[in-house]
Amino acid sequence: MTLIKCPECEIEVSDQAPACNGCGYPLSDLANEDITETVNGVEINITQLIAAHKDRVDCIKTIRKKTGYGLAEAKDAFDEICMRNFGDVDPY
Ligand SMILES: [Zn+2]
Repeated sequence: MTLIKCPECEIEVSDQAPACNGCGYPLSDLANEDITETVNGVEINITQLIAAHKDRVDCIKTIRKKTGYGLAEAKDAFDEICMRNFGDVDPY
């Protein structure tokens, strides 16, 4: 289970919840939508990437392989994507 931020009232709620338990905002569609990002011209499904790996270091390794980025570039790209989507550099 992961916590996501309600886009309406910004409290943290389970991604499994059908609606925000604070304000009732419907979350089911939001939780099912995969996050895709373009990194160095390569489209990466971030939701699947995170689900398929055990930690962020593994995700960064895969981003390096897919994009040809160096370690620092891949790490920066992943940090930025995580901060923007999850509000934290570590999505685990
Ligand atoms: Zn809410």
